[in-house]
Amino acid sequence: EEEVISYRQSLSINVSGFDVPRPVKTFQDLGFDGMLMGTIAKQGYENPTPIQCQAVPIALSGRDLIGIAKTGSGKTAAFVLPMIVHIMDQAELAKGEGPIGIICSPTRELAQQIFNETKKFAKAYGIRVSGVYGGMSKFEQFKELKAGCEIVVATPGRLIDMIKMKAFTMFRGTYLVLDEADRMFDLGFEPQIRSIVGQLRPDRQTLLFSATMPRRVERLAREILSDPIRVTVGEVGR
Ligand code: ADP
Ligand code: MG
Repeated sequence: EEEVISYRQSLSINVSGFDVPRPVKTFQDLGFDGMLMGTIAKQGYENPTPIQCQAVPIALSGRDLIGIAKTGSGKTAAFVLPMIVHIMDQAELAKGEGPIGIICSPTRELAQQIFNETKKFAKAYGIRVSGVYGGMSKFEQFKELKAGCEIVVATPGRLIDMIKMKAFTMFRGTYLVLDEADRMFDLGFEPQIRSIVGQLRPDRQTLLFSATMPRRVERLAREILSDPIRVTVGEVGR
């Protein structure tokens, strides 16, 4: 236990919450299968970044998570890798329709980046990823979504549009990621986020990532996450 504490300190990791899983040191420690390890290696990732060392074991354990770390710290893989495992664990994968994993991002550019990164990890498994943001006509998007997918990477506004058009249902949605939550608030997406969350099952797993933690983001987190573990890397702004 003392070793865990000093290891966290050495990475500038702070945690709060009960029963926090131990941080890992290597990707091997995470128990991923050969396919995922192969993709990680292909990306040139040698070791997990500090946020990944602590957030990935938490997410893999099924717990809700608040992750706070600055830009460039590797937050995308911190939520995408456990999402792939979560999806592959679903016995019902072949049945049903509608996304299992939903990633919300504040802007089209950020959503596009996450979409590209997610596809790299999902491809080998045949997990279908759809990008739900501006740039494609709503009709084209609707058609793509109708064909089915396991993951959507979305901006909140376009996701709501697609739900309203009945492009998919949210019944299978069990893994929700709110990325750059502070920026989504700055852009006025709080109502959309609440609407999306309201359509998902209460037993979902929810992960919220942010570079800063203003009060209103804190309040939303308290409302929509259950017994979350909070992980911060480095200093946190408000
Ligand atoms: P953030 O969302 O925290 O701003 P990103 O997820 O966009 O950060 O990652 C920043 C960069 O670091 C990306 O180019 C990504 O491919 C790279 N990266 C992520 N994880 C690792 C890793 N474990 N080792 C090396 N590079 C990584
Ligand atoms: Mg990011």
